[in-house]
Amino acid sequence: MLNIALFGPPGAGKGTQSEFLIKKYNLFYISTGDILRKELAEETKLGLEAKTIIARGGLVSDEIIVQIIEKTIKNNPDANGFLFDGFPRTFVQAYILEGLMIKLNTKLDLLISIEVPEEESVKRLLLRGETSGRLDDNDEVIRNRLREYDEKTKPVLDFYREKGNYKAIDGVQEIKKVTTEISIAVNKEVEKKQLNIVLFGSPGSGRGSLGRAIAEKYNLEFVSTGDMLDEEISKGTELGKQVKEKYDNGQLVSDEIVIQLIERKMKQSNNAKGFIFKGYPRTLVQSYILDGILMKHDAIINKIIELDVETLELVRRLDNRSKTDQCMPYDSSTAKIVQRLEDHTNKTIPVIEKYKEIHDVAVVNGTDCFEDVMGRVSAEIESSFRALD
Ligand code: AMP
Repeated sequence: MLNIALFGPPGAGKGTQSEFLIKKYNLFYISTGDILRKELAEETKLGLEAKTIIARGGLVSDEIIVQIIEKTIKNNPDANGFLFDGFPRTFVQAYILEGLMIKLNTKLDLLISIEVPEEESVKRLLLRGETSGRLDDNDEVIRNRLREYDEKTKPVLDFYREKGNYKAIDGVQEIKKVTTEISIAVNKEVEKKQLNIVLFGSPGSGRGSLGRAIAEKYNLEFVSTGDMLDEEISKGTELGKQVKEKYDNGQLVSDEIVIQLIERKMKQSNNAKGFIFKGYPRTLVQSYILDGILMKHDAIINKIIELDVETLELVRRLDNRSKTDQCMPYDSSTAKIVQRLEDHTNKTIPVIEKYKEIHDVAVVNGTDCFEDVMGRVSAEIESSFRALD
């Protein structure tokens, strides 16, 4: 998802620049002003409530704004991202927007501030008033709107300046030039975006080989906590010794150790296009930990894939593997295989269920040959890459 807010005084050219942004980045446009004017024209309860405030050039209440934004977001669950015009308009609304973004498991990537001096705004709005038919495009109300902007809206900039995702653009230049500068700023954000995938599937579903192939194909870092633990043991590192002790005692490796390994991998791969997590998170606790790790790196999960393979087929595959030299210590007996499948059902399925409530989980048929499954998974990933293009 790509989420952008366009900021600037009335008459800065936000509407004009929006048209270009929506088309180029395939965003859903939310203009609180347009929505309010529509409500007003249809004389809805909400429109009538806002009417006198809009006519005076004041700001309507946050309650009304939250209602209309929530409704619009809810009605467009498949949007690639949102372009906000006229919101957030107060520093309170900046906090509200952060909250709404968390609910959508996304964030505001960039606030673009189109800067225009007051007299230029007045000149443009008076000109627009000759044809717009807007009840607030007249001299007195325009001054009021600009006063509201100075007093209530400008503090929003401090919020985003502190967060570091704000870009000022000079709005008193040719429209085309403003557009070019905006697209340079947005492209920079798009380039920074990572693709972080969590790959789920029962033992034997092909997660390991697929995960590795996907990482290579899309230039992502493969994060397999199991592999990382094995590597520590075989290298005989300090961590590896601790892990081995746990393994030998039949204990689970603690979350403290796994967090250190994931953090290290993420720091080492600072410039990665993204990460693909396999075998993590395995428990609800670990799902919260992963959210925490990603948050810390200002990243989010963009895609969740679940490989779906029937239980009988899983048992068949694991049993076959146990007879080859690829046999893992944990595949070496039927009892162990059953235990792993049970662990997956009892501990990991609830994690997938949790994700299904907040994310779009792509369930991919994991039977058939490797190439076919790889094709299905690639199609899922490419649809997400498109969303970031
Ligand atoms: P605009 O089309 O963005 O210039 O908005 C027109 C009018 O709608 C404003 O002068 C406000 O009265 C109202 N309005 C639009 N967006 C908001 C908002 N986010 N918060 C409060 N009032 C708003």
